[in-house]
Amino acid sequence: MDRPYPARDCVKEKRWRIHNLCSTLISPNARPRVKVLLPLPLADAYDYGVPDGLALAPGDFVEVPLGARRAIGVVWETIADDAVNGVPDARLKDVFSRLPAIPMPTANRDLVDWVASYTLAPRGAVLRMAMSVPDALEPPKPRIAYASRDTLPDIRMTPARERVFALLESGPPRSASDIAREAAVSKGVVTGLYKAGALDEVALPSAAALDSPDPDRPGPTLSAAQADSVQALAEADDAFSVTLLDGVTGSGKTEVYFEAIAATLRLGRQVLVLLPEIALGAQWLRRFEARFGARPAEWHSDLTQARRRHTWRAVADGSARVIVGARSALFLPYADLGLIIVDEEHEPAFKQEEGVCYHARDMAVVRARIGDIPAILASATPSLETVSNADSGRYRRLHLPARHGGAELPAISLVDLRRDPPERQTWISPTLRRALAENLAAGEQSLLFLNRRGYAPLTLCRSCGHRLQCPNCTAWLVEHRFSKRLQCHHCGYSGERPDDCESCGATDSLVACGPGVERMAEEVMNFLPEARFVVVTSDSIRRPSDADAFVQQITNHDVDIVIGTQIVAKGHHFPKLTLVGVIDADLGLAGGDLRAAERTYQLLHQVAGRAGRAELPGRVLLQTYHPDNPVLQALAAGDRDGFLATEAEMREIGHWPPFGRLAALIISGRDSDAVERVARELARTAPRSDGVRVLGPAPAQMSLLRGRHRWRLLLKATRNTPVQNQVRYWLSQITIPGSVRVQIDIDPYSFM
Ligand code: ADP
Ligand code: ZN
Repeated sequence: MDRPYPARDCVKEKRWRIHNLCSTLISPNARPRVKVLLPLPLADAYDYGVPDGLALAPGDFVEVPLGARRAIGVVWETIADDAVNGVPDARLKDVFSRLPAIPMPTANRDLVDWVASYTLAPRGAVLRMAMSVPDALEPPKPRIAYASRDTLPDIRMTPARERVFALLESGPPRSASDIAREAAVSKGVVTGLYKAGALDEVALPSAAALDSPDPDRPGPTLSAAQADSVQALAEADDAFSVTLLDGVTGSGKTEVYFEAIAATLRLGRQVLVLLPEIALGAQWLRRFEARFGARPAEWHSDLTQARRRHTWRAVADGSARVIVGARSALFLPYADLGLIIVDEEHEPAFKQEEGVCYHARDMAVVRARIGDIPAILASATPSLETVSNADSGRYRRLHLPARHGGAELPAISLVDLRRDPPERQTWISPTLRRALAENLAAGEQSLLFLNRRGYAPLTLCRSCGHRLQCPNCTAWLVEHRFSKRLQCHHCGYSGERPDDCESCGATDSLVACGPGVERMAEEVMNFLPEARFVVVTSDSIRRPSDADAFVQQITNHDVDIVIGTQIVAKGHHFPKLTLVGVIDADLGLAGGDLRAAERTYQLLHQVAGRAGRAELPGRVLLQTYHPDNPVLQALAAGDRDGFLATEAEMREIGHWPPFGRLAALIISGRDSDAVERVARELARTAPRSDGVRVLGPAPAQMSLLRGRHRWRLLLKATRNTPVQNQVRYWLSQITIPGSVRVQIDIDPYSFM
């Protein structure tokens, strides 16, 4: 049965009653108290008493009792004696202690408040993103190392012990685990030697300090256009401003913002660079190091716990000067952030779709405003949101119109698959095949782009038409032939490919339908057997070192043809890559997503930008069944601004973003009836004011996801509508059973 209230409302309700009962009873000189926000999905900070002798200020990290547990939170407010109300003194619990960590800076706390009120996520859930490394709040543990002694006690020698002595004689003291690894012994051997008095213990510094990037190392000589942009950036003082750095791929946007980084470093302030996919940043990191003589601090999901702790502290104490990271880097506790750069600002990867739904590019601008510092948004295909802000004068725009060093932009042409069809059960047209063969013969490299992982997106029974579907999701299972599995790309379900149809029992009747990158590899192998190729997807690139290896492989010319998904579309610069073939340019245009056209333009433009970036000119072939589509026409004509203008006009007529506002409610749960009931109830109580329309309820396109049934409602409003107030009021009118979850997504990017 459904619980009557979700837990959160129960707590609120009780607190409200207590508040009303007691506010008159509290004496004016009550104990000092503070409000502590906890990194839990709670909207409110809780009151705690401050024990005698403990001085607390906003931002302090504190340990507090929470029921029977202990929790770490942040002092959000101190409460003046005469403002005390809420929990009566007698029931008030005291803060246990203040942690010896640098307090959370004001700008960080303001960002948490701002993001929570904008996204309507509970404040505590946003705080959790800003406290992602609780260990970093504890004082660093001393690292114990072992060194050999001059005089040895009388001990029995074994080969393992001898290896330990040999290692320590030739090098500095090491930790027990390093010794164990390097001397190939167990840790027990090391501790045994220590206990026997044969090794000395020494304390090591807790971690090596980060090197400081040096802004005064010489950079490249800038072109006139680049120098103008650098000059314009320097003229904006160090107060809040947003600049769109709009330049074709290869025009030197990175070089230009490197100069802005140097200028901020000279002021002694920190810089944050947000990249959409940090795993792909290997080349970026190398360039940074070449320019500044030190690596930046990295922040992404693939760091060891020790590295996270160390980086967190270095950001807080200001010793990390430049931080490059994925969106979560926005919430780090910068000691003195002076500049934020969002590279590839149009990338959908900046939108977080789960938990707290926020757009890191937009929140980066908010963070810049809070800190009163500049932000730079860089892109060759800026988002319509950013372009419209630049057009209206809210953002400045700097333009880099040409590729550096006179490299030509690649020539893009369309291959009409109706006139130039591939052979049966293949996907590469004769024209593209010829181009690939010519390029191979010329000793140049090619890229085949298909945004589909695996071998085939669908497996179907020839005799009964049954489609193999994920048991947990409204999605087909994707065949991965390399790993011999069928996979769901939404929930991670994976199973073996059955021999017989599970529906009609026919044997040998299952066929793969449509291509994925693995199938393209098969096709290339068949018609260009001498070509060396590599398949690059998120299955093969899981961490920065994989990306590095891939980049090396191409730079060393160990492969002729790269077959990849969007993971290869970004940032890389390969001098010998001169041909790009897009297998299915229509792929992203199907299914009427609001941004389908915009995203397709951006993605294909970016893929095309991989071709011919150095002396060798590049060409791009887009295979399509719809050569008249305006997106593809604009790509072929290189008419980005024309495309953006048409797209903007259409959005404006329909009052779609950025000329109107959207908020999505996603209702989900395991019990489909309960989910539907809530969805219908929400439709009944939907706001009905001027300038607001609610679309739905309807089962989501992805009506089952990870075993949860899903319905959606979409609130569409004029630009000036305070959407958050509307949604807040809307949700306050109904009670949602505990088994059903309502996710709020302000400014949604996904409509699945
Ligand atoms: P974008 O970020 O606009 O794609 P990049 O900054 O990556 O462009 O520049 C493209 C290539 O041109 C890089 O290899 C870069 O090192 C080189 N480059 C750009 N500007 C200069 C310059 N002023 N001097 C020398 N090389 C440059
Ligand atoms: Zn699934």
